[in-house]
Amino acid sequence: MSGSNRRKLDVVIAGGGIAGASSAIFLSSLEGVNVTILESRSRRSTSVEGGILMLGPNGMNVMKGLSVSAHLLARPNITQVAWLTIVDSAGAFIGKVPQGSVARYGFPSTLASRWDILEVLLDEVERRRIPIKWSSKVIGLKQKDDGVVVQWTENGIQYEKCADLLIGADGIWSSVRTLMYQELNLPIPKPRYSGLLGIGGFVDTTEVPGIYDYLSAERPVVMIQGRNGFIGLTLVGTDVKRIGWWSTYEAADRSREEWNIPREETFKELNRRFSTWAYPVPQVLAVAERPSTEAPLLWPISEVEGLPRWHNHGQVVLIGDAAHAMPPHSGQGASQAMEDAAYLGYLIRQCMSPSKDPGAPNIPDVKSALSALQKAREDRVGHIVAEANRRGDGKRDISAFGMFIKKWSMKLIFAFMSESWMDGWFGYQVPGIGEWEKLRKSAA
Ligand SMILES: Cc1cc2nc3c(=O)[nH]c(=O)nc-3n(C[C@H](O)[C@H](O)[C@H](O)COP(=O)(O)OP(=O)(O)OC[C@H]3O[C@@H](n4cnc5c(N)ncnc54)[C@H](O)[C@@H]3O)c2cc1C
Repeated sequence: MSGSNRRKLDVVIAGGGIAGASSAIFLSSLEGVNVTILESRSRRSTSVEGGILMLGPNGMNVMKGLSVSAHLLARPNITQVAWLTIVDSAGAFIGKVPQGSVARYGFPSTLASRWDILEVLLDEVERRRIPIKWSSKVIGLKQKDDGVVVQWTENGIQYEKCADLLIGADGIWSSVRTLMYQELNLPIPKPRYSGLLGIGGFVDTTEVPGIYDYLSAERPVVMIQGRNGFIGLTLVGTDVKRIGWWSTYEAADRSREEWNIPREETFKELNRRFSTWAYPVPQVLAVAERPSTEAPLLWPISEVEGLPRWHNHGQVVLIGDAAHAMPPHSGQGASQAMEDAAYLGYLIRQCMSPSKDPGAPNIPDVKSALSALQKAREDRVGHIVAEANRRGDGKRDISAFGMFIKKWSMKLIFAFMSESWMDGWFGYQVPGIGEWEKLRKSAA
């Protein structure tokens, strides 16, 4: 697919979330690649629905490769986090965990609302005039010799198109994953509920007197660890007028409807767990409980792990949560989704216009790009999922003795923890990530 044989590559992306929008921006930077996004939602979100996410420096470096890191950092709901402060439920200091720095990785970790991240990605999608079809849900696929036929409904009307590549970036409940496994005649992987419920919300700083002595630019995130769970607290955004709070605790599985837990029941459980904790936990929860405060968001945490196939040995591939939905305890789900998008972009770039660098992989066609993606990514992702599960287990209820051991082990570990501890996660650079900006400038 080089020189005079170079042809157009028609790409359909299922899902305009973090993975799908990132993929669209990378691929549309390549000459000859046409991208269309099919997104089942009817429009962009209009508020901070979706809670707050931590992007690691590795995720921020992908944002830079997408030319949108500066836009993200200019948004109002951003908090840069060089350290997490860990305390116990009585308020005693346990330790500090490094979250990266400009000097070491180009960025520290960045706390942003999911909405802010999506807004900057979708602004760039629009700026690049990448078609995004809203209310479009992928419902079928057929791998043929000359391409993959994608079927979708758009506002209730059915359409189909033959593409050179279908990217399933449609999240944890991925239809593309189900359809691909169905076509391969393999058992269909299903997300597994982890037994943990995520919950989070916002309250105004004016409602919690003294909060600026507790949280500050030097202490932007405090994680409070107790026997019966943890609570994270942060000052949100540059105007620091809101406190973001979140927690994860054990909860029995329920049906989809039953997860609409009434507010009184939610706060009964939160108060049972946390009302005796030190300032400011009970104060924050008391404000959150008021009917005038926006109701907290609840996320039953499910995962998709160890997927044997991320691709169909043809022209269909899964990325992001569709391929490896991980529990949020690593704070890496979105960063890994973006790394997938950047890696896939790099491999397709090698396929469309091979680099002269002798170390660059030989990617003769789309099929080879997709199997190379899984080979390159699955060990790194698997390692992060294993660590996320280990951290998730640490959020389950434990005995007083268990907490004593946990606290002193943490104290010991944090006392000797240097910044280099996170190099494996935060210092990782997707191959070719630094070349995208140059490539876009020369194409413009
Ligand atoms: C409680 C919680 C906290 C988290 N905290 C963090 C954190 O701190 N840091 C972090 O990095 N990650 C975090 N994560 C994980 C992170 O949110 C995900 O890993 C990330 O959003 C994955 O992006 P994605 O694009 O793969 O999927 P999604 O963001 O789910 O996007 C999928 C998109 O596909 C669309 N779609 C679905 N089906 C179809 C279809 N059939 N056709 C077309 N479109 C479709 C959806 O509408 C959606 O827009 C957290 C997750 C949870 C639940």
